[in-house]
Amino acid sequence: MRDGRPAASRFSLRVCVPMSAFPKLTDLGWRRRLRSRVLRWYDLNGRKLPWRESADPYRIWISEIMLQQTTVAAVVPYFERFIQRFPTVKALAKAEQSEVLRLWEGLGYYSRARNLHSTAQVIVNELSGEFPRTADELTKLPGIGPYTAGAIASFAFDQPAPIVEANTLRLYSRLIAMEIDPRGAAGQKTLWKFAAWIVSRRRAADFNQAVMDIGSQVCRPRDPECPKCPLMASCKAYEAGLQIQIPLQPTKTVITDVVEVSIAVRRGNQFLLRQCTEKERWAGLWDFVRFELTDAQAAALKIPEKTRAKVAVLPGQQSLFADDSAVATQPLDAVLQAQVQEQTGISVETYRPTMEIRHAVTRYRIRLLCITCEVSGGRLKRGAGFQWYSLTQLTDLPLSRTGRQVADRLE
Ligand code: SF4
Repeated sequence: MRDGRPAASRFSLRVCVPMSAFPKLTDLGWRRRLRSRVLRWYDLNGRKLPWRESADPYRIWISEIMLQQTTVAAVVPYFERFIQRFPTVKALAKAEQSEVLRLWEGLGYYSRARNLHSTAQVIVNELSGEFPRTADELTKLPGIGPYTAGAIASFAFDQPAPIVEANTLRLYSRLIAMEIDPRGAAGQKTLWKFAAWIVSRRRAADFNQAVMDIGSQVCRPRDPECPKCPLMASCKAYEAGLQIQIPLQPTKTVITDVVEVSIAVRRGNQFLLRQCTEKERWAGLWDFVRFELTDAQAAALKIPEKTRAKVAVLPGQQSLFADDSAVATQPLDAVLQAQVQEQTGISVETYRPTMEIRHAVTRYRIRLLCITCEVSGGRLKRGAGFQWYSLTQLTDLPLSRTGRQVADRLE
């Protein structure tokens, strides 16, 4: 079982759903009824959100990119802060990339922030600051895919443009009782075709907002509220009793465990950081010395097993490595010393384990061991990109989420 659903391999929708259940894209009566049910529901239940109060394509664009990676509740404060600092596409185009990344800090997927910044410059420099009005033209801009293009075209310009994102993917899959993986090429093709066919020509913006809201609030992943659903009478999955099994789940991703070390190298009240290059995980952000360990190397750090087995640690919680009072005075483990020396040219001594952070990046489950240590000698290696920053300067540098958690504990 996954998410309370039977595994796809033990379940064949082909057996359960007669092909006649799939609404034909010529059934205009079915479409008319569904459209009017959607809009009626929206009139009574549509959510008030900061980016819905205007039809400004710039605000819609920013909100949609932010919403691709987290929930509405988490996005609201980020959105408000971002718009306050960069109220227009011109203001964003003029900004330094590091400031854009600093405001994005914590949202993850930093390439999206970099794309936003460079696309703003294209819009200002090549399109006189005006957004294209159709989804086709919008997708020609860097970093704007079919979903974002559909959202901007419909929400800002009321164009009947299709959208398919997580909530509509689930809702549409159920409405048409789709018997194939909605994330695969054939499933995507079917859903986009359906989305283009079903989107209302009248009040397209409200229609698209409504289907996303119904998807997130009513047609929820694990517990769809069918009895309260405004679309129950049109829903083919409900009709066939398959609302839990649809959409089919993708094959489970294989998770890889990784142990990493982050070392805050201190010299007086300064710390060593460098900007990650384009090819690295956090391109454009600054980071402390960081590297990956094998399990054998992690064990050699003498972290008590019972402590290492504990779960997530967040800023403000106790150190997981040892007692809070424990300050190791023995020479830093040879592996750590060698890594710091190799990356920076600096030798280090006395180390203080500060915390362990457990987090995930794509298919990697990462245990990040955070350590502070003191400079004992050596010179900064040329070309390695490391520089000394004071704690005050650190507050203005864009860091990864874990980098910020480390920085927040430094004194
Ligand atoms: S009836 Fe149930 S499965 Fe169908 S759209 Fe509504 S909530 Fe989703």
